[in-house]
Amino acid sequence: MPMKGLERYDRINKGEAVAKFQIARRMEVEKTDSFEEMLELHRELKGKFRRLLAEKDSADFLDTALPEYSYLHIKIDILKEMLKECCFCERRCGVNRYKKKGFCKTGVKSYYSSEFLHMGEEPELIPSHTIFFNRCTFACVFCQNYDIVYDEDYEVVPENLAKAIDIRFVQGSRNVNFVGGNPDQHAHTILEILSHVELNVPVVWNSNMYHSSELAEIVEDVVDVWLADFKYGNDECAKKYSKVKNYWKVVTRNFLRAKDNGELLIRHLVMPNHLECCTEPVVKWVAEELGRDVRFNLMFQYHPTFRAFEYPEIARRLTQEEMKKALEITRKYGLVNLV
Ligand code: SF4
Repeated sequence: MPMKGLERYDRINKGEAVAKFQIARRMEVEKTDSFEEMLELHRELKGKFRRLLAEKDSADFLDTALPEYSYLHIKIDILKEMLKECCFCERRCGVNRYKKKGFCKTGVKSYYSSEFLHMGEEPELIPSHTIFFNRCTFACVFCQNYDIVYDEDYEVVPENLAKAIDIRFVQGSRNVNFVGGNPDQHAHTILEILSHVELNVPVVWNSNMYHSSELAEIVEDVVDVWLADFKYGNDECAKKYSKVKNYWKVVTRNFLRAKDNGELLIRHLVMPNHLECCTEPVVKWVAEELGRDVRFNLMFQYHPTFRAFEYPEIARRLTQEEMKKALEITRKYGLVNLV
């Protein structure tokens, strides 16, 4: 029985539907060098893409010949232009990443730490071919992956990772899961990787949801499942622990857009002493705005690490009482589709 909310993902897994990037890759587009023309063409083509998604979403579409230049390629070229004044995320550094690095310390090249079949994700995702990219657009003081985020391990060679995605799929992966850190600052690299993937692999984008609308406009047509973190219930906590501004406005905007452009699996990491200020507003908003049966993972595995010990209120694990309270909150607002 497929889990409610991830029906299309389930159909791709069964080979009945087509991963979005494989549709985008089969839409022929005329190449242009002007950024303005690329954006205009992309806007026009979005309607065609949506029609194909609605009408041709069956495995037969994979038999369509691959054009030399496609809707996926124009996206890659747009992202490469956007790098010249980066606004991939709402930090909007505006730096030219061909010459300089912004807050996320990512230039034009992308680095990753590891790729493997992950068995520790949500049940419907495993085995998940997880690719851990270095760097992040957040600076969480409790970062659970700080060894990955603050380093550059292996330079990404798109053709090689694409081959790895195909091989892992043959080995049994149910998806490719782009994570970090965060995938957003690597969007140009990730779409380039996908342009070389042969097989029908669902794409999971494991994101902090702090991306810009400009980035969403491009990447939403390749993301099948938004594996989306909803960390904070207000801007103060977001600023204090992750150094981000306007958190609530940005992520709620992005969640609503993601709901209209893919399927959602939401994660909320419950933090000690943050049930009233974070867990409750997050659960309430999700239930009211995204629907009570959205797939929701209430995560209890928080442990103080990295710089969390500098903040006494989060320098411990959750108590049994806090876990019980978090579950009561989800019941109070009627969230039913819990992992
Ligand atoms: S991805 Fe975000 S943090 Fe990184 S350079 Fe671009 S705007 Fe800045």
